[in-house]
Amino acid sequence: MIWGELETGLAGLAADGVLRRRRVLDGPCGPDAVIDGRRVLAFCSNDYLGLANHPTLVAAARDAAERWGVGSGASHAVSGHLRPHEEIEQRLAAFVGRERALYFTTGYMANLAIAPALVDRRDAIFADRLNHASLIDAALLSRAEHIRFPHGDMEALARRLEQSGARRKLILTDAVFSMDGDLAPLPALFELAERFDAWLVVDDAHGFGVLGPGGRGSAAHFELPPSPRLILMGTLGKAAGVSGAFVAGDQRVIEWLLQRARSYMFTTASSPLLAAALLVSLDLIERGEERRARLRQLIGRLREGLDGLPWRLSPSPTAIQPLMVGSNEAAVRLSERLFARGVWVPAIRPPTVPAGTARLRISLSAAHADAHIDTLVAALHDCARRD
Ligand SMILES: *Cc1c(COP(=O)(O)O)cnc(C)c1O
Repeated sequence: MIWGELETGLAGLAADGVLRRRRVLDGPCGPDAVIDGRRVLAFCSNDYLGLANHPTLVAAARDAAERWGVGSGASHAVSGHLRPHEEIEQRLAAFVGRERALYFTTGYMANLAIAPALVDRRDAIFADRLNHASLIDAALLSRAEHIRFPHGDMEALARRLEQSGARRKLILTDAVFSMDGDLAPLPALFELAERFDAWLVVDDAHGFGVLGPGGRGSAAHFELPPSPRLILMGTLGKAAGVSGAFVAGDQRVIEWLLQRARSYMFTTASSPLLAAALLVSLDLIERGEERRARLRQLIGRLREGLDGLPWRLSPSPTAIQPLMVGSNEAAVRLSERLFARGVWVPAIRPPTVPAGTARLRISLSAAHADAHIDTLVAALHDCARRD
């Protein structure tokens, strides 16, 4: 009985073309990936600034392992909060210009902390329809009413806020949508949060390090004021090239998370060597204008090169460039044909994206060379010609 359902479930996933297959990399994250002894050109990672394998970060991690060991041994509140953890929190708070920051093991954990700690069944969460899965899970976990509004539709959001009789209101949004690459209208969202006395939680997984002056992220890009109602979440495994995440904001909010958030309290603090590497990563991000300019150049080169393909490139200004294909089968087939040509671009299917909008998610990194972009462009035009 229990086995039969799993087996038909797995067969169903295969029939729907949504079975996931992992590829094993025999080398570090970077444009040149080695898989099964073969080199392929990768456009898959969120390592937007090319820091994941940066020699200075590697050296910092190695030195920190000598000094602090590899394990933290306990949760932060018990005995796992080592000096590098404390330092990275202070650096992150200063970097994004907020009162205080809390360092989490992953972005998923950080998101699971915020909403459930701040709202409950008497309250309401207002969420963009295309929000990341971790924000959806956080909303469910909080038990608050989960009210979703059409992607980017501020009038719809205003109506829902107006109609709500909830005790507390919390607006939840990606800053850069992870599968579309477009930006949330943060100034309009902030204005609605002010008008309806709501919290605004901004998940900046794909903006931190990349957008705004010094890579300070989407809120800085839009010059949002450091209001207590604005809660910033950023991840440190993407542009920052390491691992982990942070929540930054008003001192009372951060202290409350430290005291109450279950995904903070009931998990072992991450390795201190990661926090030490992140301190160096923050320096490189802050001085990373050249890397960010390079990334913008590559985005322009790709968009120009892909003009005239049968598949439409979404209007994204960021390093996430989705090529819309449609059906799951067609997206997987195109991804496989590219792979056969030595180019690795993942097909993204439901439930990660809505049904019928399967796509190739091309993600660019400052570590890519112009020639890499040209290879991808040529391979896609070749696939289109032979379709
Ligand atoms: C990747 C991602 C997360 C999760 O962060 P991890 O550190 O990978 O757990 C959360 N939100 C968004 C929008 C993401 O893209």
